[in-house]
Amino acid sequence: MDLELYDTKSRRVLPILGKSISMYCCGPTVYRAAHVGNLRTFLLSDLIRRTLELNGAQVTLIQNITDVGHMAEDVGGEDKILTSSRAEKIDPLAIARKYEAGFHADLAALNIRPAEKYPRASDYIELMHEMIAQLIAQKNAYIGSDGCVYFDSKSFAGYGQISSNRLDALKPGHRYEYTDEGGKRFHADWALWKAAGERHELIWDSPWGPGFPGWHIECSAMSLHFLHNHVDVHVGGIDLRFPHHENERAQSNSITRAEAVDHWVHGEHLLFEGRKMSKSTGNVVLLRDVIARGFDPLSIRLTFLENRYRSQMDLTWDAISAAHSTLRRWRNLVSGNPQVNPQLNDEITQALNSDLDTPRVIQLLRVIEKNPELTVEEKVGAFLFADQVLGLDLSRQEMNRELPPELAEIMKLRAKARNEKNWKESDRLRGVLEAEGLIIKDSATEQDWEWR
Ligand code: AMP
Ligand code: ZN
Repeated sequence: MDLELYDTKSRRVLPILGKSISMYCCGPTVYRAAHVGNLRTFLLSDLIRRTLELNGAQVTLIQNITDVGHMAEDVGGEDKILTSSRAEKIDPLAIARKYEAGFHADLAALNIRPAEKYPRASDYIELMHEMIAQLIAQKNAYIGSDGCVYFDSKSFAGYGQISSNRLDALKPGHRYEYTDEGGKRFHADWALWKAAGERHELIWDSPWGPGFPGWHIECSAMSLHFLHNHVDVHVGGIDLRFPHHENERAQSNSITRAEAVDHWVHGEHLLFEGRKMSKSTGNVVLLRDVIARGFDPLSIRLTFLENRYRSQMDLTWDAISAAHSTLRRWRNLVSGNPQVNPQLNDEITQALNSDLDTPRVIQLLRVIEKNPELTVEEKVGAFLFADQVLGLDLSRQEMNRELPPELAEIMKLRAKARNEKNWKESDRLRGVLEAEGLIIKDSATEQDWEWR
């Protein structure tokens, strides 16, 4: 059976066919720490990749790092990285590298497997120049009256198919991306190369004068270059459907003269306290906030898995806390020898292949956990099989450092008994704790424990 995924462009759930799959996932803009909403989208590409691999396919995943050219509408056209650079008084590329390192650390903490390559936009400016030159030669792009190079949206017949936007219905005055696009011929055209103007940092020479790339061209350049002109599965958050992916498709299809991407997959947004998590809304939660509250970072991964990627989900601290306890319980369960039960594995695979129905997989595991007719070994086998995609580190034991509250209470009573030199009571309580699976280690003043 093949993985079937919802394709935003055709609005249908379609199989991903083939044994060698190329994937591209739009990466972070590295002017601030990624919030857990961003991480939900990055997790989506990991789940797709792991499910394809479970089905026996080989996957090549590329994810870009946007370290230049992504303008912020809300900061008056100022480049986000330059704004952060001024605020933090650090060189702009050092800012970008700092947050890029943080991004990789977050991915590792969430068990998101590394992509094949993470190309930085700033390292591939020449590649973008070549693509822009080809688009100008083909009359898909032109040099505007302000010296910037624009893509001629009317030159691409299929514009709007991903997002259902029609060119003739797009209103002038919509701020597509930049605030100062005076030199274009048509309001829906977008900049491929921006003239430097007053800007002195993060600019490069080009055949059209000094400047910097528009945002969309980097994804066309890097996806086509690293994936050899064809992307099987392209992933991003739902907000990227328009204009980013619409513009990327127009560029890439014009270059390859073919449908450059087979499958457009979009993850829905993470909400927090009822609103989309975003820096501008001011309701961001970072992975380090989750860790600082004492939660295993993978409890965030589990809360995401409990919701289908195509639904918005509202994150709460209660849900994270519940997931944290579930993880602890499941890791306790997954400690014996596994035994394969092909029927259970089939059910798990089918749920994953049905447009990544991870909530169903989690539900299946809850039923398996409680099923008295299954042996412990069969349960362990099913949990470990699912964990190849779920990535919850269910075979990990060390996190069980945390004591269940009732045992913690007995530890406290025993400490009190020891303080009062009530050795009889302290020995009795040691017996109770040992019967629960703990090994108690006493020093003159302290008592410590570990799981047997
Ligand atoms: P950015 O770093 O802003 O370029 O965003 C990186 C990725 O995160 C993009 O694919 C966005 O669509 C996605 N994204 C942004 N906000 C959210 C959110 N609240 N929930 C899920 N994905 C998001
Ligand atoms: Zn992109």
